[in-house]
Amino acid sequence: MPYICENVECRAVLARRQVRSIREDEGWCFYCPDCKARNELSDIGVPGGPAELIQPQRSGLPHKVIATARPLEDGRYVAQLRIQRALGMKGTYAAEERWDQLGTFSDAQEAVAHAKSVAAERLG
Ligand SMILES: [Zn+2]
Repeated sequence: MPYICENVECRAVLARRQVRSIREDEGWCFYCPDCKARNELSDIGVPGGPAELIQPQRSGLPHKVIATARPLEDGRYVAQLRIQRALGMKGTYAAEERWDQLGTFSDAQEAVAHAKSVAAERLG
């Protein structure tokens, strides 16, 4: 399993021999040779034995969700949503998906909350 840089802008796929794992006070990590981002590693080796490093699984990719409320002339708000899915490999984001009309709300907060719940459904 190669390592994947966690920096969304980078997402470099790195063979293990390409990176140098180092032990810092906070634990094991490596620095991406492409973007210099710090990437955390976990030692799953037996205590006292040699370090056996893995890249911890993140609870999902860092997708970008932009939920907004556009004010209408009548004082209500339209919920709008943009989703940029992060890719699990090098290359920043997949094409953006967007919805300009997710419903009309009397309150901007409600409109944003609705857009966010739609995003959670799409990404879940
Ligand atoms: Zn990187």
